[in-house]
Amino acid sequence: MPRLDQDIKLDFKDVLFRPKRSTLKSRSEVDLHREFLFRNSKGKYNGIPVIASNMDTVGTFEMAKVFHKHDLFTVIHKHYTLEEWQKFNSEVTTDIYTNLAVSCGTGEADSENLKRIVDLLPDIKYLCLDVANGYSEHFVAFVTDIRKQFPNQTIMAGNVVTGEMVEELILCGADIIKVGIGPGSVCTTRKKTGVGYPQVSAVIECADAAHGLGGHIISDGGCTCPGDVAKAFGAGADFVMMGGMLAGHDQSGGDMIERDGKKLKQFYGMSSSVAMQKYSGKVADYRASEGKVVEVGYRGDVNETIQDILGGLRSTCTYVGAGKLKELSRRTTFIRVTQQINNVFS
Ligand code: 5GP
Repeated sequence: MPRLDQDIKLDFKDVLFRPKRSTLKSRSEVDLHREFLFRNSKGKYNGIPVIASNMDTVGTFEMAKVFHKHDLFTVIHKHYTLEEWQKFNSEVTTDIYTNLAVSCGTGEADSENLKRIVDLLPDIKYLCLDVANGYSEHFVAFVTDIRKQFPNQTIMAGNVVTGEMVEELILCGADIIKVGIGPGSVCTTRKKTGVGYPQVSAVIECADAAHGLGGHIISDGGCTCPGDVAKAFGAGADFVMMGGMLAGHDQSGGDMIERDGKKLKQFYGMSSSVAMQKYSGKVADYRASEGKVVEVGYRGDVNETIQDILGGLRSTCTYVGAGKLKELSRRTTFIRVTQQINNVFS
């Protein structure tokens, strides 16, 4: 007989922050920087823990350059060639590597490529081992192996949504666990498979599991507005990763399209038919594509969007009296709601 978990699990749309009395006068007093010491690599981090996703339309070198200026983090997508990495390296100063990770899937070609990139650029401090389903034994073995090969690099690994798998990945060598199955803006996993976990509850539960072992988590996917980013931090995420909120900018990948005088940019999931065609020549016949292909309005330079996100986050902190981002989850009380936004004019 199947089991049924009767606990209600919550998404960003189901909660709001309850405001709290505060001594902060303005949002300019809020410090969004965080410092972390990673459990397995012993590496140290200091920055604003907002991450551009390793999708090929988001985790670009152009995005990383702008993100680093704001002390934000980028996970570079895995499809750049060694030559492109070399060129990038010649254009930047090495401090950019404090805010940048290289991503890698579990394929043999992927890990060979990872080794070549790290050999070429030993300043790289962060590796992101990324699969759609982080629950397989094969993935655990892969993370264990990469930890052996790279004892000093900080390893991000995912995606999972439950505490026991967060613990397993930390115990086999990962430092930061990527949390999220199905919440993404161009993800169709829930539709295609019926698998998933509401993101706020996944973050609350996974953060608790990770922090108990001295590990960290990234909330990955599902943020539709700056308020959602704040909610992910409030729920206990150490880092928050986003894709769709960063799509459509000058620094984003994807073709520019002009239609009826309107400028649009293509945005797609990394397991969409477009991505699969682009990188493996076809949609593999044993799998259904689990990503959407969409066109988003052109949004110009990403700097403005960054200001909007960080401004929102600072403002959340002032509403709950958190002088530092670090204090946000301690000062968070979520209230469950049935409606959060008035849509009369949208
Ligand atoms: P967003 O911020 O757009 O809501 O979510 C971004 C996240 O969606 C990514 O970081 C990644 O974890 C996930 N994602 C990206 N492409 C795909 C895809 O094709 N299929 C699925 N299931 N998830 C995707």
